[in-house]
Amino acid sequence: MEWSGPARGLILIFGLTIAHASSAQTTAIAPPTPDQAPPAEERPLAKSKIAANTLFGAESRAAKLKSRAIGFYSRGCLAGGEWLPPDGTAWQAMRLSRNRNWAHPNVVKLVKRLATEAKAAGEWPGLLVGDMTQPRGGPMTSGHASHQIGLDADVWLTPMPDRRLTWEEREKISAASMLKDPLSVNPETFTPGVIAIIKRAASYDEVERIGVNPAIKFGLCRAAGGDKPWLSKIQGWAGHTYHMHIRIKCPPGSDGCRSQGTPDGTSCAAAEKWYADTKAWMENPKKPPTGPKTKRKPKPPLTLEDLPNACRDVLAAAPTGGPTLIAKGIVPPEQKPAAVPAVEASSGAAAFAVPHALEPVPPAAAAALEVPKPQPAGRRAEQ
Ligand SMILES: [Zn+2]
Repeated sequence: MEWSGPARGLILIFGLTIAHASSAQTTAIAPPTPDQAPPAEERPLAKSKIAANTLFGAESRAAKLKSRAIGFYSRGCLAGGEWLPPDGTAWQAMRLSRNRNWAHPNVVKLVKRLATEAKAAGEWPGLLVGDMTQPRGGPMTSGHASHQIGLDADVWLTPMPDRRLTWEEREKISAASMLKDPLSVNPETFTPGVIAIIKRAASYDEVERIGVNPAIKFGLCRAAGGDKPWLSKIQGWAGHTYHMHIRIKCPPGSDGCRSQGTPDGTSCAAAEKWYADTKAWMENPKKPPTGPKTKRKPKPPLTLEDLPNACRDVLAAAPTGGPTLIAKGIVPPEQKPAAVPAVEASSGAAAFAVPHALEPVPPAAAAALEVPKPQPAGRRAEQ
């Protein structure tokens, strides 16, 4: 309904009168005297002042909003996140207790595509998928500065074994390092299959960059011979000795998503320079400068005020997607027949026993389940 001019004026005056009356009422209440006021540490913090990783880390399901990456990779959040089923025809998600197998739908689609196409081509037996994003993105309780807007995925460079891993194994198995020493790759783990899966990931248009350890980038340059253009998306990042960090561009329709632009310093000449400089430094390490040491202050954690305003709506939205409960034990079906209803039976997940939020869980099965809580990432390798 549209209000005409005079009617709108009356409403405005009426509204102002109420606002004035209520503010007059508010000021009429005497503020508590210092000894009446609770001590500062007992007063509840405004939501906007609480560390944002506490707020986002507590969310176990996605925000029921149109899918949208909001903000920047290291300062933002995710609306309408999608859950990657822990088990598919050509992938298995790892570290399920962290509940970070969520992302923008385009990333979920990309991971599935990379997994199935590489397997079909005989390049790679399947992906072990590490951290993607929390259900609503945002800063994480541990492990990553980025991965906040649902456009990042860590994919292990360890081939998927030819069997379904148990929950326990997905928590405990370590990925194999690609390095023999800080400067060079280990031919036992850095195989032609590893090169093929990284190259395939880089071939997809929506992929903006892929982070791997600088020594892996150097190893890729040496292995690529004359075929180098695809390496311009591969960037040397500290850590990342066990996995590749795939980052996609801002997807269409993600208003408020800030792109990082074309990666720089990604030429093989830059990799050669990194190698020469690092080798020289290792052979003749510089002494640390003498004089008083200045300790760098740790940065305060991000709060809601530091994030785009739309992230408040993301936190406030109704939950959607994914499981409400995740099975603790993942066992082949012959050992535990139909213990819990399954999700995505068509993608081979029937044995996986992860109930969907909307499916009833039998009481006996529910007793064996628990809602995952975010766990510390623990290892630098998965940043
Ligand atoms: Zn990473």
